[in-house]
Amino acid sequence: MSVHDAEAVVVGGGLAGMAAAIAVAAAGLRTLHLAPPAPADRRTSALMMPSVDYLRTAGLIEAPAAMGHALTQIRIIDATNRLIRAPETLFDARESGLEAFGWNFANSKLLERFQAVAEQQGNLERRNLSVTGLSHRSDGPELTLADGTTIRAPLIVGADGKKSLIRAAGGFRARENGFTQAALVCDLDLARPIGGTSVEFHYQQGPFTLVPAGDNRANLVWIDDRAVLQEAQSGGKERLLTMLAEKSQRLFGRVELATPAHVFPLSTLSVEKAGDRGVVLVGEAAHAFPPIGAQGLNLGLRDVADLADVLACVDRSAPRWAEQVSQSYATRRAADLARTGGMVDTLFRSLLSEMLPAQALRAGGLWALKLLPPLRRQAFSIGMGLR
Ligand SMILES: Cc1cc2nc3c(=O)[nH]c(=O)nc-3n(C[C@H](O)[C@H](O)[C@H](O)COP(=O)(O)OP(=O)(O)OC[C@H]3O[C@@H](n4cnc5c(N)ncnc54)[C@H](O)[C@@H]3O)c2cc1C
Repeated sequence: MSVHDAEAVVVGGGLAGMAAAIAVAAAGLRTLHLAPPAPADRRTSALMMPSVDYLRTAGLIEAPAAMGHALTQIRIIDATNRLIRAPETLFDARESGLEAFGWNFANSKLLERFQAVAEQQGNLERRNLSVTGLSHRSDGPELTLADGTTIRAPLIVGADGKKSLIRAAGGFRARENGFTQAALVCDLDLARPIGGTSVEFHYQQGPFTLVPAGDNRANLVWIDDRAVLQEAQSGGKERLLTMLAEKSQRLFGRVELATPAHVFPLSTLSVEKAGDRGVVLVGEAAHAFPPIGAQGLNLGLRDVADLADVLACVDRSAPRWAEQVSQSYATRRAADLARTGGMVDTLFRSLLSEMLPAQALRAGGLWALKLLPPLRRQAFSIGMGLR
């Protein structure tokens, strides 16, 4: 395929971009994937069952047990010293008739697997080139590449992450909000097995979450003030281990570092509209959240699933079919993006709030979830992104 024959160009080689390139090619479009080399992705992703089901039906993974670790329970421990504290709460997937809420995967393993699937697709071509510009011409969008060349294609899929050039150059309006908190991420080896239970300690400054990664291994996501995390990261191994043991309330005995710690800045971002004039945005190009409630990539995969559905219905012999795709995609994504963004924002603010009414609401909410099974089941459905 010559680059000038492409019907769709997908920009960005992260997980959302890889999944989108495969989905667009699977819909029958001659697809060019612009995916310059990127630093190794050391994060892990807790993917809820609907996302895992999508990965399986789209042929992106086979048995999840071959690549990831089942999340069967969520345990929430209020570790604040606030006046109004929430009860310790254990949610079990079996209450909803499920074997697991989802699966925890290393992003690097998912990427490797997606790449292998992409290589099997005849109408999908990958180039290690980044995009430096996007402009709208009368006959459709045009991309400028890092080597100075330009290409036109009816449909452009921006999957170029939080700092998306496609979003900015495409004229998409976005709301952004930075936080003073950051997330410290690393793998820990615990003295005792963690089983399938994700354990969340809710501290005043943010949650400290241990996600099961097999046997005694857990992936840590620790949200706290950026200065505290930077000091923890740079203060030497023994100091960090002491802080980790204290934060985990020695529930699993002595902890050891299995990988170096990385600190990620946190912010929220959401676009007003996820598609326009033949350009659509997927993944963090369209939305980014703090990693609580495991929503980021789950939402990104729902973007891809909706894009695939829209492409399955479009008549590509019609003039300006790609504009139709971008409008239908924007309409289809609007409610999910607003609902998920609102949920994560409310959750994050209620976790950090020093205001008594917010603390009371949060504690009351957890009591209600603990005591009322129907409410709990409804909360599961929202958190898992069931539609
Ligand atoms: C600490 C942490 C924990 C998380 N845990 C979870 C979780 O448990 N569950 C969950 O669902 N989500 C989680 N997330 C969110 C999830 O990791 C992200 O939503 C997801 O990885 C974003 O993928 P993406 O492909 O949209 O973006 P990225 O991974 O940022 O990929 C963007 C790609 O675009 C490329 N690019 C950028 N600019 C250009 C350009 N101009 N031209 C070409 N290419 C370009 C980059 O090189 C990169 O490869 C977590 C996030 C963090 C920070």
